[in-house]
Formats: sequence, structure tokens, C-alpha cells
Amino acid sequence: MPENCVFCKILSGELPASFIYQDDELVVFKDIRPKAAVHLLVVPRLHIKSLNEVQPTHGQLLNNMLMLLPKLAHEQGLDNGYRMVCNVGRGGGQEVDHLHFHLLGGEGRLPGF
Ligand code: 5GP
Ligand code: ZN
Repeated sequence: MPENCVFCKILSGELPASFIYQDDELVVFKDIRPKAAVHLLVVPRLHIKSLNEVQPTHGQLLNNMLMLLPKLAHEQGLDNGYRMVCNVGRGGGQEVDHLHFHLLGGEGRLPGF
């Protein structure tokens, strides 16, 4: 496990999180500082630093991360729409260097960028 990776610590149980969804390769939990009524994080068990480090061998994993979003959104009642965000690097606002997708929505229309 890469040292000081918050999401690896959550995955190993060293830090607490309640998994809304989990399978062999992915976990989903609530963001600790939600920026919308629904704010989930879709996180692969495999430590990949960011989208920039994704390799062709990760194609199925990325596909599964993406395909999970509509299912989660529906389960969360986000039938009016939602937003997926993937911050990449410090310039892109990435704070945790472990690949993840944000799923945001709920309570009306999200603000524009
Ligand atoms: P990033 O800015 O890297 O795209 O997003 C990282 C997200 O992880 C942030 O929205 C932040 O609030 C969330 N986060 C950071 N530490 C923890 C934690 O220990 N538990 C949970 N549930 N979320 C965290
Ligand atoms: Zn990690």
C-alpha cells in the first residue's frame, strides 16, 4: 500500500468508511465533505495515482467504474440528473492521489462551472 494514501487506508480498514457498494474491484462511499446533497466517491481497490496513470490493461476497470454511475445515481434517486467529476493532478483540484470518480447530485440543479 502506498504510504499515506487515504483511500488505501479506507480500503484496508485503517480508516473508517461505510461502503454503499463494493465488489471485487470497486468500493463506493460518501465523501467526508459533501459538495452536494448526494456526493459519492467511486474508488478502485487498485491504487492508481490518477487518470494520467491509467494503462490499457485498466480498460475494463475504467469501464466498470463508468458503468456503475447510472446504477448508483438511480439508487440514490438522482433521476433528474447528476454529475461525474474526475479531478486530475493539483491543477485539476485532485487532493487524494488515488483514482476516483465523484458522483454529485440532488436537491435541484447543480451550479454550473
Ligand atoms: P479530489 O479532490 O482528490 O478529487 O477528491 C478527494 C475527495 O476525498 C474530497 O472531496 C474529500 O472531501 C474526500 N476525502 C478526503 N479524505 C476523506 C476521508 O477520509 N473519508 C472520506 N469519506 N472522504 C474523504
Ligand atoms: Zn491508494
